[in-house]
Amino acid sequence: MNIPKTIVTYHSFENISNFEKQLQILKKQKNVLVTVDDGDLTFYTEAYPLLVKYKIPAILFIITSLIGTEIPFWWNEIMYYQGEVKGFKKATELKYIPNQERIYYLIKLRSLSDKPLLKQQQLTIKQLLEMQDNGIIIANHSDTHPMFDQCNEEVIRAEIKNTKLFFEANNLKGYSVFAYPNGGYNKMSETVLKQEGIEFAFLFDHKINKGIINPLRISRLSVNDDTPIWKFKLILSGWHSKWVPLNIFLYKILKR
Ligand SMILES: [Zn+2]
Repeated sequence: MNIPKTIVTYHSFENISNFEKQLQILKKQKNVLVTVDDGDLTFYTEAYPLLVKYKIPAILFIITSLIGTEIPFWWNEIMYYQGEVKGFKKATELKYIPNQERIYYLIKLRSLSDKPLLKQQQLTIKQLLEMQDNGIIIANHSDTHPMFDQCNEEVIRAEIKNTKLFFEANNLKGYSVFAYPNGGYNKMSETVLKQEGIEFAFLFDHKINKGIINPLRISRLSVNDDTPIWKFKLILSGWHSKWVPLNIFLYKILKR
């Protein structure tokens, strides 16, 4: 696989007219790649037809244990129980604590609530195979989406082995192409990934790739389907990732 310097990352799709405008900009650039994390159903219904229409290379990173189920993304579950604002804040916090504590928190949250369990329709094998046949690379985003930098080696290995079984059993080809959940990279997880035959690993560091690219530490830019076009262009230029820290720095100085 030839790794492009500019790789954008999306999650879900609602603002389709804006997304199409973004694709028209990507189409004019050489050497770009669209990646989409988590496998939200809107990828299939909204984004995939447009990616095929514009013939833009794309990778969909799936969470294998959710495929063909109604099990929600765990962060959606937190927002379901705690409301959008508080839940979003809590979900962010949970990404930075040991994995086992995150799991306990979720179990407790479910058991303390009177609400029925949240359901979320996930992509099916049939949909994945259809997209694979039409050129979308269906790739690996772990089995249950823990943050690998918050897991022990045993958990990471089990996650990867489960994805391997899933990809093989379902004739999906992108097992060895992996995106760290939430970009949670560390040296130990990289070693395990290598041992388990992962060839490409994508970060989520909001950077453009420079020079010789390490295939196990590929940088990606973060965008949304509703990112305004002016900002989208700024992000693609690589200036945005420098501009944001610079802005925060200037703001702090001016506030003194
Ligand atoms: Zn993810």
